[in-house]
Amino acid sequence: MIGRLHSIETFGAVDGPGIRTVFFMQGCPARCLYCHNPDSWAADGGRDITIEEILHWADRGRPYYGDKGGVTFSGGEPLLQGEFLAAAIRALGEIGIDSAIDASGTYTDEFTEEAIRACKLVLLDIKHPLADRFEIITGRPQEELLKLIDIINRNGKHVWIRNVVVPDINDMEEDIAELNRFIRQIRYIDKVELLGYHTMAVNKYGKLGITYRLKGVPPMDGEKLNHLKQLVEIPETDAVSQVEL
Ligand code: SF4
Repeated sequence: MIGRLHSIETFGAVDGPGIRTVFFMQGCPARCLYCHNPDSWAADGGRDITIEEILHWADRGRPYYGDKGGVTFSGGEPLLQGEFLAAAIRALGEIGIDSAIDASGTYTDEFTEEAIRACKLVLLDIKHPLADRFEIITGRPQEELLKLIDIINRNGKHVWIRNVVVPDINDMEEDIAELNRFIRQIRYIDKVELLGYHTMAVNKYGKLGITYRLKGVPPMDGEKLNHLKQLVEIPETDAVSQVEL
């Protein structure tokens, strides 16, 4: 089985617990206003990768994983390659390496459940809790996110929520209140991360000849972001966390 890869990061420390090998898969159906990786959009970009190669890279990082680390499949949108993802995660499980899926919530298909069932943790990007704004930000219907949440809940998977906070788009206290309300439907949340919008990817757009639609929007103010972080409410869960934080 062949997958499509954008890039690999060894010693990743921000995409899940512990030290991780992160496979950024190629292809994304969304077109988020603030996307940092427009070069990951085209499904026919990147390069081919086999499950054997994934096992090879993942195994190289094994001495650093400890109890918490492992592999994360990110993107692009890794669930665009759900069949490959499920097979890769199962193969990693057979050699004792846990996997997380970093999902954008913009895509599901008939292979999604298989992939989610195989993984240990889902990093879930909540682009916006309100359906109309979700669609404006991503260009995709929010039903995809709701379907994914249903699959995650049904399979009892634990979740790290991520939410990029962008000035004038979702940086008001009401936005965090909406987020708090929205995430109550997710059964097992271990962590909620608010990430500040930054402008470091703007040059990539120029090189690719793609219009950057947030031109002129400043990076998120750190102090304001810290204030918003205080307002986040993680719903209580009755399950013992699978993930040591
Ligand atoms: S889902 Fe992620 S990779 Fe896809 S457009 Fe949005 S930010 Fe970019």
